[in-house]
Amino acid sequence: MMKVLFATSEAHPLAKTGGLADVSGSLPVALQDIGVDVRVLMPGYPSALAKAENLSRVFRIDLPTHGETALLRGTFPGTGVPVYLIDHAGYYGRDGLYQDQSAQDWPDNALRFGLLSQFAAWLAGSKSPLGFKADVLHCNDWQTGLAPAFLNFEKPPRPPSVFTIHNIAYQGIFPAAVVEKLGLPKESFSVDGMEYYGNLSFLKAGLVYADRITTVSPSYAKEIQTEEFGMGFQGLLSARKNVLSGILNGIDTQEWNPATDPHLYAPYSADNIAGKSANKLSLQGELGLQYNAKTPLLGMVSRMTEQKGSDVVIEAVPKLLELGVQLVVLGSGDQKLETTWRKLANANPGRIAVVIGYNEGLAHRIEAGADIFLMPSRFEPCGLNQMYSLRYGTPPVVNNVGGLADTVTHASQENLNQGEATGFVINFLDKYSLIETVSRALILYRHKLAWQKLLKNGMTRDFGWKKSAHQYLELYQDMCEG
Ligand code: ADP
Repeated sequence: MMKVLFATSEAHPLAKTGGLADVSGSLPVALQDIGVDVRVLMPGYPSALAKAENLSRVFRIDLPTHGETALLRGTFPGTGVPVYLIDHAGYYGRDGLYQDQSAQDWPDNALRFGLLSQFAAWLAGSKSPLGFKADVLHCNDWQTGLAPAFLNFEKPPRPPSVFTIHNIAYQGIFPAAVVEKLGLPKESFSVDGMEYYGNLSFLKAGLVYADRITTVSPSYAKEIQTEEFGMGFQGLLSARKNVLSGILNGIDTQEWNPATDPHLYAPYSADNIAGKSANKLSLQGELGLQYNAKTPLLGMVSRMTEQKGSDVVIEAVPKLLELGVQLVVLGSGDQKLETTWRKLANANPGRIAVVIGYNEGLAHRIEAGADIFLMPSRFEPCGLNQMYSLRYGTPPVVNNVGGLADTVTHASQENLNQGEATGFVINFLDKYSLIETVSRALILYRHKLAWQKLLKNGMTRDFGWKKSAHQYLELYQDMCEG
């Protein structure tokens, strides 16, 4: 039986800020379903300690840099996937996974995630105190980036490691001074190692020392080898392209199922879509929008950052309103974007609703109640929301990048004729092409039959984890064979 230690900094439902948590919550379940013995390792944040089930202590240790630390063992609620939680109240016992309430990174993040990385390498390596001997260490994003480095400096035998890039924009960059504190050998701090322009980059450590690199869509795997998308790492990634591949994320099809979703006002499905309009009217009511089944309702749920193209949508708002739509926006992040959205909502009561914050239930209701979903990301490693919206019969308008390009089929005449179309793809993102693409979507929206066909195409696509889980298993097997 293949044994995998899966190290991550967040996993739904124990702790979540974004897509990484969704993947870390559902990929292990899919792997378990196909016979992999996978165990998750993550920090023991308060929410994780509260929500994990069957918790018990495995050991306690006093570490030179980090002090007293315990390892707990438990299971994910619902799925029973085993999870190891690092119990260190001084590091993880706060609200906010990476940042404080005013969106400032915690000043000790290098130590917090240095500890996570160190534990990952230790528990996967030959000196592990666990009975569980991992065949593969699977690391995710910069927070676990030092793990392949720690492992690399251990004496063999040691298991191979794979590092998955969920978003290359987050690079875990810290002053050089922390290297020694973290217990890494000095020689690792070089241009061929984890030094990045005089600083330490956790991400670079993962990219340099892991045996394999994956990212979360085939298109993004190619894009990050270019200057436009590589964010400084394109050289390293193209040099390692032989060990770099893309495996598309799946979605949790139980959590995101309009037929059984407890957050919705009314259930519906591809075969019985009537309930969707009840969700729209109720959403309009919930958010103080004008009640009108016919007014096209555009929805957006995302972190408010440059990446997600929130600013492009803002620029397009006057024209979008002229097209006669309503707009609902849920998200938080960049304060300037938040303020601008608030102002737009105040200036357009009944037509634009903006909710700043994180609200799981509302995210589900927007996916269900909106007619069209906006996701014009400048780059998108995989993206989950466009898949949720496809499944909820809310055709997405997306930019032609990364996972968006890999999951949405543009409603061209040809694709419509062949029954393949599922959404709307923008080729060069700016406000003009966004407006043009939304206009095109609205034309189709008014052709009831064609629209219903489009919804059905998206709703019946298979976005489950099964296929991807098999691809990961093949990769693990390949790694073990050397
Ligand atoms: P990313 O990981 O880049 O933020 P994804 O589309 O891959 O983007 O995943 C985002 C996840 O976070 C989705 O599950 C989405 O529903 C959720 N999400 C993002 N912002 C919010 C919010 N403000 N409220 C509720 N859920 C949100």
